[in-house]
Amino acid sequence: MEAADAVVIGSGPNGLVAANLLADHGWDVAVLEAQPEPGGAVRSDEDVHPGFVHDTFSSFYPLAAVSPTIRALGLERFGLEWEQAPAVLGTPFLSGDWALMHRRAEDTAAALDALQPGDGEAWLELCSGWDSIGADVIGALLTPFPPLRSGARALTRLPRAGGLGFVQMLLSPLQSMAGQRFRGRAARMLLAGNAAHADIPVDATGSTVMAWVLAMIGQDLGYPVPRGGAGRLSSALVARLTSRGGRLLVGTRATRVVVRAGRAVGVEVAGGGLVTARRAVLADVSAPSLYGRLVGEEHLPDRLLRRMRAFEWDPGTVKVDWALSGPVPWASSPATAPGTVHIAESIDEIRTSGAQIAAGAVPAAPFLLAGQMATSDPSRAPAGCESFWAYTHVPQHTTSDAGDGGITGTWDHDDLQRMADRVQARVEAYAPGFGARVLARRVLGPRELEARDENLVGGALGGGTANLHQQLVFRPVPGLGRAETPVARLYLASSSAHPGGGVHGACGSNAARAAMAHDRLSRVTAPLRRREHRT
Ligand SMILES: Cc1cc2nc3c(=O)[nH]c(=O)nc-3n(C[C@H](O)[C@H](O)[C@H](O)COP(=O)(O)OP(=O)(O)OC[C@H]3O[C@@H](n4cnc5c(N)ncnc54)[C@H](O)[C@@H]3O)c2cc1C
Repeated sequence: MEAADAVVIGSGPNGLVAANLLADHGWDVAVLEAQPEPGGAVRSDEDVHPGFVHDTFSSFYPLAAVSPTIRALGLERFGLEWEQAPAVLGTPFLSGDWALMHRRAEDTAAALDALQPGDGEAWLELCSGWDSIGADVIGALLTPFPPLRSGARALTRLPRAGGLGFVQMLLSPLQSMAGQRFRGRAARMLLAGNAAHADIPVDATGSTVMAWVLAMIGQDLGYPVPRGGAGRLSSALVARLTSRGGRLLVGTRATRVVVRAGRAVGVEVAGGGLVTARRAVLADVSAPSLYGRLVGEEHLPDRLLRRMRAFEWDPGTVKVDWALSGPVPWASSPATAPGTVHIAESIDEIRTSGAQIAAGAVPAAPFLLAGQMATSDPSRAPAGCESFWAYTHVPQHTTSDAGDGGITGTWDHDDLQRMADRVQARVEAYAPGFGARVLARRVLGPRELEARDENLVGGALGGGTANLHQQLVFRPVPGLGRAETPVARLYLASSSAHPGGGVHGACGSNAARAAMAHDRLSRVTAPLRRREHRT
């Protein structure tokens, strides 16, 4: 039987950030990971074609770059090196034009002005709002809810950003906000592509905030990638943890959180072992996996169990990886190549594909998020070649195919190949001759993603929908909003907790800080409780 001060279930970025923070405070930490290797959805492999590195899941880490917690870990001392593509992101149009975002606001604005005079100035206005309150918005998003300190600071600086008019702009649906502010589609698409990173529809409240935050972080810090593959970010987190005495047990699946007298006291693992938790258990697992499965229903209030029945996943994902014998043959290559590429002709197209997914239909013209990884980091492919991927969302429960009708939603081999062909045809429309450069292709559908990381239920990549009704105090269910759970000494540390998906480590950091605060409090109050008990 093993024992540790804290048992962390899951070694995704949130689990590893939590484990590092606890180890920094002298806690003896054991991390249990079901998979044979650590990292959760931050891993890379060389399975597609010899000599090519592909990120199995996530690729671009602006949220890690902006996260005060991850920055403070100093992962560069543990082997992490960041690389950046020449341009941050771009959207090609069938006309041959590109919407491009650069690292300097003035360069982005000049490129937008060249396509549509006046849009550059409107872009700079959005940037000046960011300069005034961006840091506080990040602070508010990445700390536990309610964000008192950053929230208060943001309020005092709000007049500089444009006051209530600015707030109203952020609360408007992106489609109407971008339509009012920009005359050309390039600026609209720079924002809309970012909004579409989460499952918030572009005609819903929340889409503008998401788009603005991601675009502005990208412009400030780029969309960095770890040199050598996403897995290098995870291996740096593991190296840091083990240098502080933390233990990582891979191939060790947690099957039950042991609860005694309302307190989490250990974790049972597949095969029958038990790891005793002297001070806390932190779960980097999805909320549905924690509540009712790892923790038995008998330990949870009825109200929570009822609310969990309404928990909503974000859509599924199909990801296609290609090893290419040359660069992507874009019909017209931009002078500065972007690492991240969003493929859709207009906001309306993004809205349509989102609405089809919400209605259970596989999109006919799927919105694609794509990555030119060797453009971002030359070590990812042999010289002159490209390691490219694109992913797109699909319904959690498919009722129809809005395309040629051939996709059933079972996501078996046939479905995946049809979907990959649809995705590839879309790329080919913007990059004629793409197919001729394909050396190898891999398709990961909902089942393959979930088999490699059980948090990605049905291919959901956000730990639950990012829509407003499941954010902030409503995440993962109304009333929970923080890492604390109804079981004492048990904390939800995954992206199912506030502030949700993305590699920022905030869910893990919130859980670790909550565990340490409660532990301190219980040590202070223990003598009082003992005295009360005696009298
Ligand atoms: C295809 C894809 C692309 C993405 N692209 C980006 C991107 O470019 N940038 C970005 O910021 N974010 C991206 N994301 C989202 C991001 O990867 C996730 O939000 C993030 O990894 C969540 O971290 P986590 O620690 O909460 O969970 P995960 O990373 O999912 O890790 C959870 C870990 O817990 C383990 N686990 C679960 N249950 C158990 C158990 N019972 N016992 C033991 N271990 C268990 C799992 O095996 C896994 O290793 C992407 C995600 C996907 C899937």
